[in-house]
Amino acid sequence: VPLVLTQFLDRAVTYYGDKTGVICDDRSFTYHQLNERVNQLSHGLKGLGVQKGDKVAYLAPNTLEMLEGFYGIFQLGAIMVPLNIRLKPDDYLFILNHSESKILFVDGDLYDLIVPIKDQLETVKTIIVHYKNEDTNEIDYDVWLNEQPKTAFDRALLDENDVCSLLYTSGTTGNPKGVMLTHRNNYIHALSTMHHLRVTDQDKYLHILPMFHVNGWGSPFYYTANGATHVCLRKPSPQAIFEHILKHRVSVMHMAPTVLNSLIQYHEENVPQIEQDVRVVIAGSAPPPSFVAKVEQELGWEFIQVYGMTESSPLSLFSRVRSHFEDLPIKEQYRMKAKAGYAMIGTQVKVVNDLGEEVEKDGKQIGEVIVRGNGVMLGYWKNQEATMEAIQNGWLHTGDMGTVDEYGNVDIVDRKKDVIISGGENISSIEVEGVLYEHPAVLEAAVIAVPHEKWGETPHAYVVLRKDKTVTEKELIDFSRAKLAHFKAVTGVTFVEELPKTASGKIQKLHLRNDYWESIG
Ligand code: ATP
Ligand code: MG
Repeated sequence: VPLVLTQFLDRAVTYYGDKTGVICDDRSFTYHQLNERVNQLSHGLKGLGVQKGDKVAYLAPNTLEMLEGFYGIFQLGAIMVPLNIRLKPDDYLFILNHSESKILFVDGDLYDLIVPIKDQLETVKTIIVHYKNEDTNEIDYDVWLNEQPKTAFDRALLDENDVCSLLYTSGTTGNPKGVMLTHRNNYIHALSTMHHLRVTDQDKYLHILPMFHVNGWGSPFYYTANGATHVCLRKPSPQAIFEHILKHRVSVMHMAPTVLNSLIQYHEENVPQIEQDVRVVIAGSAPPPSFVAKVEQELGWEFIQVYGMTESSPLSLFSRVRSHFEDLPIKEQYRMKAKAGYAMIGTQVKVVNDLGEEVEKDGKQIGEVIVRGNGVMLGYWKNQEATMEAIQNGWLHTGDMGTVDEYGNVDIVDRKKDVIISGGENISSIEVEGVLYEHPAVLEAAVIAVPHEKWGETPHAYVVLRKDKTVTEKELIDFSRAKLAHFKAVTGVTFVEELPKTASGKIQKLHLRNDYWESIG
């Protein structure tokens, strides 16, 4: 039997059919009902002429409609193209035409983003609107869905290496690239993640990471297969997140560290002690140990760091502390958890130098992280050159730099592009940010390389202050000099109201670099 993602829904229907599968605002459906809606969706798409291999795009926040979209599309052997909801109309035009999408599902709140580009869409034939809230000629999703039969759908025959999604990367470093992932990629990734996370039918999973981003995109499969309940959340503000945690007894969440940071702050200010069932929170992007400590001590949630990228379906490293670390002093445990972690089942990870040799397992030598295994993408859509650059001899070159310690625990040091080279020394922007985050007035910090006459480059910080707190540039420079080797200390600080971020919450340093160049003329 080929490994095809619809099997995950089948399992939920077979064993957990009467259980609540999804809660979204004031609506909820059992897995049995969800399956009927999925069938209706597949019948409807077939009626619109969608065939195996066709691309179907989604522009939606985390809603029930997005969740059922996955299986509805896969039953036809079609390919999902999720769109980041924070892009501009021109970006949608590029992705919709580049991906050759035939159908576009769009949330009523986002429909205005499509209006300016409608006439220029080359392949999109039909637009279907979820929660249609204005007079348009487009199809109303609810009305359309209700016209379709709920009966089982005659599924397309699929090979496990058939593509299931075209996921465009976050665009943190430049233009997004269309990543082709296969059913097998996501199937194995789901099996591996559900094992490492110990997902059960008791879990209630709150969708905070957007489903249009690879990490949120993969999560429907393993929570569904285990009969856990999906809780959708349109706008994940700290207040809404805490309300949902309490109301729906949420047990597990995945989010960007910037969002987790905002939860810590909100919790400090607003929610003294709450009765809650959250057992674990997962975040990517190297946080400092002090951050891990805050999550575990103040919020009382187990913190797991993961590392991955769209090109690897996404996760390759998982930081859950190995059992013998539990004997270590608590501070040491936090230090371990602040690293990205250990290769997940089905994945091989190496850290290699310029010659392709593995670096010493001493936690010091820095090399590029390379990944091989079941999660690695088929390639970039219509970009053979970039694919050949990224995947060499089966190894995905991540463009991320890391170290590996004696236990095999990998620490992501920085993106290759973000490393600051000062007087011939490599400085990790992440390390410098970690120190700035220790300052009580700092809410968010991002460090970039700026030109320097003598040293080539030096670290410069962009900082957002906490509410009602102040600190001067000089104080932050001195603070970083006191805590870091002097060549690593920041040489300047720009205070800003907010940092430019991708939809999944990642700081776009490219924009900061541009901003800096503009500021110096
Ligand atoms: P683009 O490729 O378009 O510039 P992007 O690389 O941000 O965008 P994603 O695939 O969403 O797109 O993100 C993957 C990247 O996120 C990784 O290559 C890495 O730089 C960063 N990342 C992920 N997990 C971690 C982690 N645990 N620690 C540090 N960085 C991480
Ligand atoms: Mg990338």
